[in-house]
Amino acid sequence: MSPRSTKFIFVTGGVVSSIGKGLSCASIGALLEARGLKVTALKLDPYINVDPGTMSPFQHGEVFVTDDGAETDLDLGHYERFIGMKMSRANNFTAGQVYETVIGNERRGDYLGGTVQVIPHITDEIKRRVIEASKGFDICIVEVGGTVGDIESQPFLEAIRQMRADVGPENALYIHVTLVPYIRAANEFKTKPTQHSVKDLLGYGIIPGLIICRSESPLDDKLKKKISLFCNVKENCVVNAYDVSNIYEVPLVLNREGLDERIVEHLNIWTGAPNLSAWQKIVDAIRSPRHGIVTIAMVGKYVELTESYKSLTEALHHGGIANDCDVRIVYVDSEEIERIGVEPAIRQASGGSAAGIGVDALLIPGGFGCRGSEGKISAAQYAREKRIPFLGICLGLQMAVIEFARNKSGITAATSAEFDPNAKHAVIHIMETQKSVQRKGGSMRLGAYPCSLKKSSLARKLYGKDEISERHRHRFEVNNDYREALEKAGLIFSGLSPDKKLVEVIELKDHPWFIGVQFHPEFKSTPRSPHPLFAGFVRAAMEQRNRAPSAGAAAPGDAQPNGSAEKSSSARSPQMSINDLLEKASSPT
Ligand code: GLN
Repeated sequence: MSPRSTKFIFVTGGVVSSIGKGLSCASIGALLEARGLKVTALKLDPYINVDPGTMSPFQHGEVFVTDDGAETDLDLGHYERFIGMKMSRANNFTAGQVYETVIGNERRGDYLGGTVQVIPHITDEIKRRVIEASKGFDICIVEVGGTVGDIESQPFLEAIRQMRADVGPENALYIHVTLVPYIRAANEFKTKPTQHSVKDLLGYGIIPGLIICRSESPLDDKLKKKISLFCNVKENCVVNAYDVSNIYEVPLVLNREGLDERIVEHLNIWTGAPNLSAWQKIVDAIRSPRHGIVTIAMVGKYVELTESYKSLTEALHHGGIANDCDVRIVYVDSEEIERIGVEPAIRQASGGSAAGIGVDALLIPGGFGCRGSEGKISAAQYAREKRIPFLGICLGLQMAVIEFARNKSGITAATSAEFDPNAKHAVIHIMETQKSVQRKGGSMRLGAYPCSLKKSSLARKLYGKDEISERHRHRFEVNNDYREALEKAGLIFSGLSPDKKLVEVIELKDHPWFIGVQFHPEFKSTPRSPHPLFAGFVRAAMEQRNRAPSAGAAAPGDAQPNGSAEKSSSARSPQMSINDLLEKASSPT
C-alpha cells in the first residue's frame, strides 16, 4: 500500500497584519489533531532576514527557540502550544534563507549556465522546503506571513499556487484570514476590505475554499451571505472568528462555526467528531478559577511590548491553569525602578495601596544589554530580602547572581561582562565558546541542553526528576571562579550541566521560593501540560497571597469576572481588538 499523501492547508492573510493568522493556524491544527490526525505547521516569512534572531523585539516580538536551536517566528510558539507536535528548524523559513540556498547553488554551478530566476528557482526552493517539512504527516498547515498584496510575499503565493497542481487538488486547500471591521460611525460591519483582499488573492491564481473572518463581535448570517456571494465561496465556508477573551477558546469557536467539518469535507478526509474535552477544560479553568487571582510583577525593559514576552505570559497563565487560579501580570519598567525605587515603581504599576505593593511574586525575564539592569538587580534584592516568590529567567538569573554577590558575598563591584567587558568582578562572564564568535546571527548558545538537578533541591522537587532538558538562548554564564564564594554565602547551584561546568539553576536556602534559570522554560509550557516551574511559581504566589493578603491585588476568592479589563493578562485579552488593529495599521510603524 502506498503511504497516505499529506494534505496541505495554505493560510494567507488579508487586509491588515496581526489579525491572528498564527492563532487561526494553531487552532486549525488543534481541531484536526483532536480528530486523530497527525498535524504539523509551517510558517513562511517573506522578509529577507535569515531568521528573526537579530531583529529588535520592537520590530518582531518574541524570538521563539526550538529544541534544535533555531531562532524562529513567535507563531511557532502558538503552534507548539496548540498542537502536540514539537517544532524544529524546518518549520519556519524566510525569503532570506531561500535566497541564501539558491545563491549557494548558483555559486557551486548547480544551474549549469541557466539564468537563475524567481520562477522557477526561488519558487522551487520554497516548495522543496514545504514538502520536506510535511513528510510523515497527515496534514501540513502552511502559513504565509504578511498580507496578500505585499511585494515580498509574491514568490511565496506563487509557490503555494503551484503546489495545488503538484499535490493534486484533493490534497490542497486555501484558507484566507481577513478582517471585517466594525465602523462605528455607520454602526455597521464592512465586508469591502475582505472583498478586495480576496480579489487580490484571485489575481495570484489562488481561489480560497474557506474564508475566516476576524471581527470584534459575532457576524450575522446576512453578512456571511454577502461575503459568500462576493468572494465566491459557499456560505457555510465563511467562518467567523470573533474576538474572545482567551486564546484557548479559539478552537472551540472555530469548531462551532463548522471550520474543521468544512476542512475535512474539502480535503476528503474521513474522521469522527473531534474530541475537544481538553480544550473545554482549559477554557473552564480560565473562566472560573476556584482559587481566585494572583498578581505577578514582570520587571523588564520592553515592558510595553507584551508581544516580546509571548511565551512567558502564556506560561504564567498555564501555571494559573495548573493551580485553578487566575494570573494577573503587571509590567514594571526596570528603568522606572532606577528612577523612583522598587516599591514605588511596583505600586505604581500594580495599583497597590500603601498597605501593600499589590503583587504576590516577582519575575525577571530574559533580556539583553545594560539598560535597566540596575533596576532589575534592585528588584531581585527586594524579592530576596522581603521573601517574595521570585523567578529569574536567563538574564533574570544573572541579575539575581550579581545582586547576591554584591550584597551577600561582599563582592560589591560584581557585575556582568555584558555590561562592562573590562569589569574586575565579572561574576557573569562570556562563555568560552562565545569568545571567538564574530557573526551575530544564530551564534548564541541555542536550543535544548541537558541539566542535572541537585537532590533535595526545590528545582528537583518541582520537576520530579534528576535530569531535565531545556531550551537556551544566551552568550553569558555564571563565572565559575566565584562559585565557591557564592555558595559559601548561601547561594545554591541546584542545576548544572552534566559536566558540572555550567550553572543552569540557582536557588536560595532561606527563602520560600526563589529560583533563577539560565534557560527559557517558557518555550516548553503548554496549556495542556503546564511547565512545572511555572506551576510551582504560581502556587508560591498563591501561598504568598494567602500569607500576606494585603500585599496582593485581590484577596482569595476574588476572581475577576471573565474578560475583565486586565490589560496585562495575555491569555485573557490576547487578540487585539479590531479597532486597536486599525489604529495600528493606519499609524506609521
Ligand atoms: N544577555 C544575556 C546573555 O546573553 C541573557 C540572555 C537572555 O536572557 N536570553 O547571556
